Amino acid sequence: MAGVRVRFAPSPTGALHLGSALTAVANFLFARRAGGEFVLRVDDTDPERSVRRHERTIRQDAEWLGLRFDEGPDEGGPYGPYRQSERMPLYFEHAERLVASDHAYREDGAILLRAPRADIVLHDAARGDVRVAAGAITDFVIVRSDGTATYQLATAVDDHLMAISHVIRGEDHLTNTARQIALSESLGWTAPRYAHTALLVADDGLKLSKRTGAPSLAELRGEGYPPEALLNYLAELSCPVIADGPSLLGALAQRFELRSLSRGQSRFDRGRLDWLSQQHLKRLNSLELARRVGQVLELRGVAWHPAQMTALGEGLKGCQTLVDAADAAEAVLVAPRVPPALDEVSRRAVALFRDVRAGWPEPYLAPVEADDVLVELRRRGEEEGLTARELLHGVRVGLTGREHGVALRYVIAAIERSDALTGRAA
Ligand code: GLU
Repeated sequence: MAGVRVRFAPSPTGALHLGSALTAVANFLFARRAGGEFVLRVDDTDPERSVRRHERTIRQDAEWLGLRFDEGPDEGGPYGPYRQSERMPLYFEHAERLVASDHAYREDGAILLRAPRADIVLHDAARGDVRVAAGAITDFVIVRSDGTATYQLATAVDDHLMAISHVIRGEDHLTNTARQIALSESLGWTAPRYAHTALLVADDGLKLSKRTGAPSLAELRGEGYPPEALLNYLAELSCPVIADGPSLLGALAQRFELRSLSRGQSRFDRGRLDWLSQQHLKRLNSLELARRVGQVLELRGVAWHPAQMTALGEGLKGCQTLVDAADAAEAVLVAPRVPPALDEVSRRAVALFRDVRAGWPEPYLAPVEADDVLVELRRRGEEEGLTARELLHGVRVGLTGREHGVALRYVIAAIERSDALTGRAA
């Protein structure tokens, strides 16, 4: 498709929330698929609510997700400036044109567009024709009495001047779309193509909002979801035919199609996100997984040696989130605050383990070496009448103070020799 240009137009009034992120992802995948441009246009026409700090956060969150802007306030580009607050003269010029052609008129210092007399039929790329009845739209403000341009005017003008080919956004914008088409037509332009996605709602069908727990991207990142999983999840929400196991950007873009955008409602399904997260973490190579888990641990102030994380990387693969993985790693890296009290059998298991481990001089072991330790431990256990279960349970509780966790070979590999020989169990 030639000349595809789409835009993400966030208002910098707060963090990037899941609903806006979904819109951004849909636009980005569409641009990727078509080999077109993805533009960041900052919708800061409301000067009181727009904060530069939020613009930075939104951009960082979008980039963390893996989105890349081809044009924008920082990237520059041939259609700048990309902040609407810096484009006000352009909007006034067009408002004046509308007044001159009698499509708009002045009222108490404000300028209003005359509502269209006929129904507006918009050709939604996903839903087909959608008719907005003439009566649904009344005359509306395009320049406020304080002299600032409104969202409607700024958006219609910029979509045209920035040669935006497709506008993809939530269906809560349907009446805005009708207004913006009216504006474009009054200015003698052909409006871009429009496609609306289903609104994202909470599990219980209520609109996602701060109150009903609409998570921001930053919150989800804090909960340990990797960006690949969130990108994958949002892609599926915006275009359900994409769903096909864990997929990365290239494959998602390949499968994205405007005519299959979500309809009705998209429910925020935490279970699906958890599953995708687990699958994406599984697909990371152990070193990369270890690197990411190491970052979480650093934020918590938990110290680790690279050899420990290398040993653990593989053992953390079943974890659902990076936070779960960091919890599991922390349980190995940090000795229990209170040395675990052991029963007689477990005490014997720990004593045997120390004896065997003492024969290996290295401070840390590779998991395959830990396997050898386990083989020898079982042999010694057999001689002393301890079953494999008793041994493994005793050593795990002795070393970590817990009944469950990362497979024992990784625990044994990652715990420093001196720690295993002298510390931890009572
Ligand atoms: N700032 C508006 C929003 O975030 C832009 C909508 C649009 O025109 O795409 O909802």
